[in-house]
Amino acid sequence: MLDVQKKKWAKLPPDTTICQMNQYIKNLKSPIAIVGMGKSGEAAKRLLIACGVQPDSIKTFDGKLESADYRDHNKLMSDLKPQTLVVSPGVPLASPWIQEAQNNGVKITSEISLACSCITSEKLIGVTGSVGKSTTVSLLQAGLEAFSKTGFVGGNLGIPFASYAADVVEKKRPTADWIVLELSSYQLENCEGLNLDFSAITYFTSNHLERYESLEHYYQTKWNILGITKHKMLLNSEGGDLIEYSKSKGHNEQVRVISKGDRNLQTLNLQKAQLIGQHNQDNIALASALAMDAHWPDSAIEGMKNFKGLSHRLENLGHVKGVRFINDSKATAMDSVLIATTAAIDTLSPGGKLYLLLGGRDKNLPWEQLSVLARFQDVEFIFFGECRSIAQEKSHLPGESHAKLSEALSSVFSKARSQDTVLLSPGGTSLDEFKSFEDRGDFFKKKVAEFATL
Ligand code: ADP
Repeated sequence: MLDVQKKKWAKLPPDTTICQMNQYIKNLKSPIAIVGMGKSGEAAKRLLIACGVQPDSIKTFDGKLESADYRDHNKLMSDLKPQTLVVSPGVPLASPWIQEAQNNGVKITSEISLACSCITSEKLIGVTGSVGKSTTVSLLQAGLEAFSKTGFVGGNLGIPFASYAADVVEKKRPTADWIVLELSSYQLENCEGLNLDFSAITYFTSNHLERYESLEHYYQTKWNILGITKHKMLLNSEGGDLIEYSKSKGHNEQVRVISKGDRNLQTLNLQKAQLIGQHNQDNIALASALAMDAHWPDSAIEGMKNFKGLSHRLENLGHVKGVRFINDSKATAMDSVLIATTAAIDTLSPGGKLYLLLGGRDKNLPWEQLSVLARFQDVEFIFFGECRSIAQEKSHLPGESHAKLSEALSSVFSKARSQDTVLLSPGGTSLDEFKSFEDRGDFFKKKVAEFATL
């Protein structure tokens, strides 16, 4: 991802800051179990070893992975008797066995906390929110690339924070001047030692309700980023429930609301930015305000304006046979679907129709919020995937229904005419048919390419 990170740091000066076995890691009692062996778990293991922890005192647990040392948590706790659990964000901290371990005095930590223990002079920016995180972080990345030779961007998006720390410890790269982290609510639940210079919240809307007992609990988890922010925390003025929520918290000097109409942003001509969609104007405003607060140079703002957008997020695939295709496979929250649909309708060719592909796998989503789309005469709804019936029932929207995305696409391809737009902004997750939203978006792109040859 980040060009800055792709560079080979072949020869570093001998005085490069190195983290020896730092006090935090030194204090972790063995045996250490890494719980969840995704990218973040692998990075945590690598960092522990880089920091001098004996490899044989680290064991891995993953319920789904053959290669893990333990696949059964009861066995892990009874046989290994770990004294430290490094819990990955994918594993709920509220799991009864993790709670029980904590009550019995087992130290609970995370990949983020391990990485934080290696931070020396770096300045940190953290971004969270229900939607808009990756876009805002990528804008900041484009800004950082314009002036920094050492910046690091990662976290929930892209490269884990602990990979950065391990690279520094192993002298594979220099210490970064700036670190920008995308932080999920799961990461914010378990981030002891994380201290941010600046932070931002992009948007609040219902999401991940399968893992939180209430919407308030989910919002509060994200809002906790304020408590670990040294200077300003910026909020997107158009951030769904965000501003209402912030008002319920009372006035706080550290919190600043950013709007694309703000006077000090006017001179930046952000409307000339390459990203499409009103919501992206909000993301650019937020990222620019962060850059200004952080005293990044003007070149950073120019870098952000030139950023063309991320794959699978309102990605304009251009026209095939006069039909415009937009890939918004990442949209798995109702607000994202509404925003993408509005952006597509706003830019519809005269006389053109919008085919909106909705579906995938449900995660207890409020599909009824989509019922407002019924008033648009030019939109035809096509439901697909595992949740097609529930999505249609709850939204009360008319339209065809197909078991698979490929079948839905065959139908759309047979109907779409020049001037029409086809938007994949499904609302549901990809996991009914695909490995990930990227996989689903790539499938859509492949099918669009095939449409050109039909
Ligand atoms: P995240 O990383 O938080 O999941 P992304 O930046 O990847 O979010 O964006 C996912 C989708 O959310 C986008 O395709 C778009 O539909 C929607 N989105 C992005 N930014 C905003 C925003 N500022 N306001 C509302 N919706 C947004």
